[in-house]
Amino acid sequence: MKNVDYAGMFVKEFHEALEENPTAWVPIGLLEWHGEHLALGCDFIIAEKACRLLAETYGGIMLPPTYFSSPGFSAHEGTIDFPPDVASPVLTALLQQLEKVRFKTAVLLSFHGGSIQEKMVKKAVEDYEKEGSLRVIVVFPGSLAGTDEWPPHATPSETGILQAVCPEAVDVSRFTPGKEYEVAYPWLPKFKDRPPRPWRITDTDIRESPLAEMGRSFLEKLVQRVGELLKG
Ligand SMILES: [Zn+2]
Repeated sequence: MKNVDYAGMFVKEFHEALEENPTAWVPIGLLEWHGEHLALGCDFIIAEKACRLLAETYGGIMLPPTYFSSPGFSAHEGTIDFPPDVASPVLTALLQQLEKVRFKTAVLLSFHGGSIQEKMVKKAVEDYEKEGSLRVIVVFPGSLAGTDEWPPHATPSETGILQAVCPEAVDVSRFTPGKEYEVAYPWLPKFKDRPPRPWRITDTDIRESPLAEMGRSFLEKLVQRVGELLKG
């Protein structure tokens, strides 16, 4: 299998890969509480594995995953997130740098979703496009997972996807159906009108869910959907 990994390339390989297909795959996630049964890197692990699969399928070069994303289960244990007005300019700067090193297309694939994150990414792209010339494609593939529950946070579908791409980041024996999780940290001042409340992931028993099928079907839909976007 050809190396698609930016960080692992020598400059000669990088140059050749860029000549062949100047597409940058940018995995975006977050370090975020995902219950007790999924690793904290869930979102960027999925984004990275998805970008690797897409780069191997369609060509191009994959960047290391980023986790400078916006909230988030901010007050739940283990989450590290960034205010949108910090994250967005960093993403804009990254696009400018991708243009500098002579990519022609950038695919921003954020497996961390939600309206705050979507707005943050949109703003970053709009700011970049004022002067930038890269073709930027934004993908929030969470919606391809099939909405078994909303938000699909650490639910069976997300568990199935993570298990399909990184089995060691999932331990379903740690899952308890219907369990309520209290917040662990002070609430963000800007959310004071929405007081902290315990979070219940799902009453469905994830251990009994068709996880392998959910993961397989997501990856199949993702490859197809992104192929359509690339053809544009
Ligand atoms: Zn997630």
